[in-house]
Amino acid sequence: MNWETVIGLEVHVQLNTKSKIFSGAATAYGAEPNTQACAIDLGLPGVLPVLNSEAVRQAVKFGLAINAKVANKSVFDRKNYFYPDLPKGYQISQFGHPIVLGGQLQITLEDGTRKTINLTRVHLEEDAGKSLHEDFKGKSGIDLNRAGTPLLEIVSEPEMHSAAEAVAYLKTLHALVTYLDICDGNMQEGSFRCDANVSVRPVGQKEFGTRAEIKNVNSFKFVEKAINYEVARQIALLEDKQAVIQETRLYDSQKNETRPMRSKEEAMDYRYFPDPDLLPLEINDEYIQQVRDTLPELPNAKRERFCKEYGLSEYDATILISSKAMADFYETVVKNCGTANAKTAANIIIGDMNAALNKHNLEIQQAPISAAQISKLILRIADNTISGKIAKTVFETMWENQEDPDTIIEKQGLKQVTDSSAIEQVIKQVLEANPKQLAEYRAGKEQLYGYFVGQVMKASQGKANPDQVNKLLKDLLQQ
Ligand code: ADP
Ligand code: MG
Repeated sequence: MNWETVIGLEVHVQLNTKSKIFSGAATAYGAEPNTQACAIDLGLPGVLPVLNSEAVRQAVKFGLAINAKVANKSVFDRKNYFYPDLPKGYQISQFGHPIVLGGQLQITLEDGTRKTINLTRVHLEEDAGKSLHEDFKGKSGIDLNRAGTPLLEIVSEPEMHSAAEAVAYLKTLHALVTYLDICDGNMQEGSFRCDANVSVRPVGQKEFGTRAEIKNVNSFKFVEKAINYEVARQIALLEDKQAVIQETRLYDSQKNETRPMRSKEEAMDYRYFPDPDLLPLEINDEYIQQVRDTLPELPNAKRERFCKEYGLSEYDATILISSKAMADFYETVVKNCGTANAKTAANIIIGDMNAALNKHNLEIQQAPISAAQISKLILRIADNTISGKIAKTVFETMWENQEDPDTIIEKQGLKQVTDSSAIEQVIKQVLEANPKQLAEYRAGKEQLYGYFVGQVMKASQGKANPDQVNKLLKDLLQQ
């Protein structure tokens, strides 16, 4: 039987407000445990929550960016459950009346196909604290610094059909919230985390299969692996005439498997009801328009502009706009070296720069080479001081010791040879050293041309100007 995968994602985005959603305590990450939780976050009696207007502004901004309906009236509810990291005994969230309804996200898959994913809703809520199990033998520590941190929960429709689509959706969403500057996007610190709902059904069947929800996966790679594992598990069960049970599962990245956490029978009844300490949130159209006026250029618009303004392929532009930092870096480079070199700039950033960043597990903001230095390197290719190939060597040295490209070219003697008599000399030597190949070439084996080019470049240590080599080699081979 052929199976179709169905995926719906719930993403928790930590908003980057300075203070918490209902208190004035700071939200900074990594402080000493329990130094950033005030009486409100601790749920002490006699205190009242006050809504942070910046969290509301950010939620509205997000809603507008995905073309959703921003609700003129939304309600904060209490979601009741007991857990040691939740001192009030309830989480303030939005249930029946969320702040944002609907909306879409356009995703681009690896092969370039576009797809629109519809969103169900987006709501504001507070985060819980953290239990620390490792540092305390036989006990658990509770750190309430994170309690009350503002979160945006973004819920998609069950419209994705592969792990690759889910990852593309997450990357698009991740880029969007960082473009909007409402989240720092730091996945290791948990600022962007995902619950994946996964089910399968026979191809052609309308009704959804029973889903499992994989909780709190915090890297793109793990989301992909967790979904693929889960899909295989469910298909194996169904083909074995067993049932998938609706449950919450945990992904273990070390074993690469998902394990049950709790089943539907054990699912909690949260007894949602409107929080009597908070008034309904009313937002008028004038306010919504004010926020709309502050929207920055969004990723899709930027991609289109990059294609038009810099003559880039859609593929290249998609990589460059994948983060705002990368797009900004690229545009700074182009500003310095001119639009005529925009394509070379794209090649170096997408090729050499990205390879080095991946190798060292860095973000572009952390790169040891500045945009100004990259521009200089590009100008040396443009004015024929070095070839594109030598530029790779220069780039590597720049990465290693942060030297200026001109200094490196000078020190290592990498200047391109454009003196045609010198190049001619090298070609003649190569032809003399390869009489057999030369005879074969002249007898009609033209594919040997590339061999001669390679030998000449090698003999010149890569420094001969490739255009001149081509021209002179063709002449000399014909003689
Ligand atoms: P809950 O309130 O239990 O979290 P929701 O109905 O709000 O459940 O759905 C949560 C997420 O699960 C949404 O992203 C939705 O798209 C997704 N989802 C719902 N049903 C399925 C299904 N059968 N297969 C995959 N995903 C699903
Ligand atoms: Mg849910």
